[in-house]
Amino acid sequence: MKEMKFETKVIHVGGEPDPTTGAIMPPIFQTSTYVQSSPGEHKGYEYSRSHNPTRTRLQECLASTENAKHCFVTASGLSASTLIMHMLPKGSKILCGDDVYGGTYRLFSKVFPEIHHYKFVDTTNLKNLEKEINEFKPALIWLETPTNPLLKISDVRAISDLAKKVGSLTVVDNTFMSPFFQNPLDQGADIVLHSMTKFINGHSDVVGGALMFNSDEIRDKIFFYQNAIGPSQSPFDSWLVLRGLKTLAVRMKAHEQNAIKISTFLENHPKVERVVYPGLKSHPQHDLAKKQMKGFGGMITFFLKGGIAESRRFLENLKLFALAESLGGVESLVDHPAIMTHASIPKEVREQLGIYDNLIRLSVGIEDSDDLIKDLEIAFSKV
Ligand SMILES: *Cc1c(COP(=O)(O)O)cnc(C)c1O
Repeated sequence: MKEMKFETKVIHVGGEPDPTTGAIMPPIFQTSTYVQSSPGEHKGYEYSRSHNPTRTRLQECLASTENAKHCFVTASGLSASTLIMHMLPKGSKILCGDDVYGGTYRLFSKVFPEIHHYKFVDTTNLKNLEKEINEFKPALIWLETPTNPLLKISDVRAISDLAKKVGSLTVVDNTFMSPFFQNPLDQGADIVLHSMTKFINGHSDVVGGALMFNSDEIRDKIFFYQNAIGPSQSPFDSWLVLRGLKTLAVRMKAHEQNAIKISTFLENHPKVERVVYPGLKSHPQHDLAKKQMKGFGGMITFFLKGGIAESRRFLENLKLFALAESLGGVESLVDHPAIMTHASIPKEVREQLGIYDNLIRLSVGIEDSDDLIKDLEIAFSKV
């Protein structure tokens, strides 16, 4: 299985026909419990919070996409993050990127501060980060790359090397790239996290999370907390993700093709102040993106000329781009982080990070690119 190409793995790993009936599609094992032939004697399944065969298939497939030994699937991306926090001894130090997903920031700044110590830093500035790592001596470094919504890129290889020197684990939230465009474990990270809600499932109909890693020690800890706390994904949701995952490669290629065209269109538009897309030469870390990623993904951030009023008019006049939180589905979405996804971050902190009121984030879908550009053009004309 290891030698297969990505396009083949997503269809075949964990996708074997059902051994009892020959059904090409795996059954949804919609069961809470499993019969035992004698007390404690069973076929590896006792209770669906702990294990479920549909979830097992999804975990096998996902592990193969990140070249990981182990995978755990959870009921949301944030519950996957929560499991990592519980796995750490009480009072651990966590060095976290300063431009992470709003929900991650809320989890770390509002839920866990009584248990662990957090420091939020710019992880794109290696010199400064090295100093922080050596002084703070974190137990864990939390990276999101590219970040949301500013698409800043952190050097996973260099940071994992620095982390190892102080005995720190490195976690990479790989949601934006999906396993198709970036594989952080191959670059030295210890744990990869995905919100499966986004590109992995890809159809905006499931919430889910996944953790992938190679260490057996981490597997034992994560399994303990998954079972003890209980954020396991339902069999039906796991089945839907298995179904969505089959087209991850074709979807990611289509997202990227559209995003390349649209980012160029935006960069040349008179009503646009600035475009941020890792695939553009103007991206400050374009070279690192080319080195670390196999593609540039489907997320674009841009700054409209004007402020909140102009942004509102633009957003209200889009028809194909649906104004909604979330990302990574086949349909194009648009988000206004300052009011929507990043509202939980205080305004001063937001602006320090560069999340101004004229910042607009696009999750470019896989519709026809000309139709998408026309939709943007009409909305610009109303501003
Ligand atoms: C959505 C998202 C999460 C959280 O995932 P949920 O499935 O919504 O809990 C974490 N990180 C990133 C980058 C995300 O986009």
